[in-house]
Amino acid sequence: MIGVMSDIHGNLEALRAVLARGAELGADDWVCLGDVVGYGADPNECVDLVSRLCGVVLLGNHDEAAISDDDLSWFNPWAAEAVLWTRRTLEVRWRQYLAERPLRHEDPIATYVHGSPVRPEAWHYVLTRRDAERESTGFSTPLCFVGHSHQPDAYELPPASESSTPRYLINVGSVGQPRDGDPRACFVTLDVRTDGTTQVKFERVAYDIPAAQRKIRAAGLRETLATRLEMGV
Ligand code: ZN
Repeated sequence: MIGVMSDIHGNLEALRAVLARGAELGADDWVCLGDVVGYGADPNECVDLVSRLCGVVLLGNHDEAAISDDDLSWFNPWAAEAVLWTRRTLEVRWRQYLAERPLRHEDPIATYVHGSPVRPEAWHYVLTRRDAERESTGFSTPLCFVGHSHQPDAYELPPASESSTPRYLINVGSVGQPRDGDPRACFVTLDVRTDGTTQVKFERVAYDIPAAQRKIRAAGLRETLATRLEMGV
């Protein structure tokens, strides 16, 4: 069984809780769909942990922003402020590690990207069925896992041309900053069984939100980044 996670956003408490729950369920490898940093107070610790425990780690838009000198005009002002804080805080070795992350990974079962498969570098969101249908031309595997929107969801899509089995695009939600009204950290497990069938399950896990909030406040990051964690928005 593997665990698939996304959008940790420097929240070490949430990441640890997800890894512990995944291990309990039997996950022996992990795929991380990116945005390991940005918003939360522990970017270095999160990249360190993810680099050691995940077989695949992809680049997210916040990771990209944190390691570049690009201007941040397309981020909203408070997100840009968090990116600047992360740029100052991120150690050189983790900056280099993030710079080497790919935008896409594919195996026989699934395609993995941060935002969407047609043009991963464009950071498009999959928020609706229409978005999912638009993105269906971007992968030919039975499954496609995305993150980026922090909204867990799954869409059944028509089969690829030469097959009769439906395909699924799955948004794995967010570990470190869920935005679907449920503050618990979110991830999925992917189990490929001996009979060849696959099972994907959404998991939610409670974590020490007050500890993550204390660190955000102590770092001088914006108060809303702390309060939104307890609301899951
Ligand atoms: Zn994100």
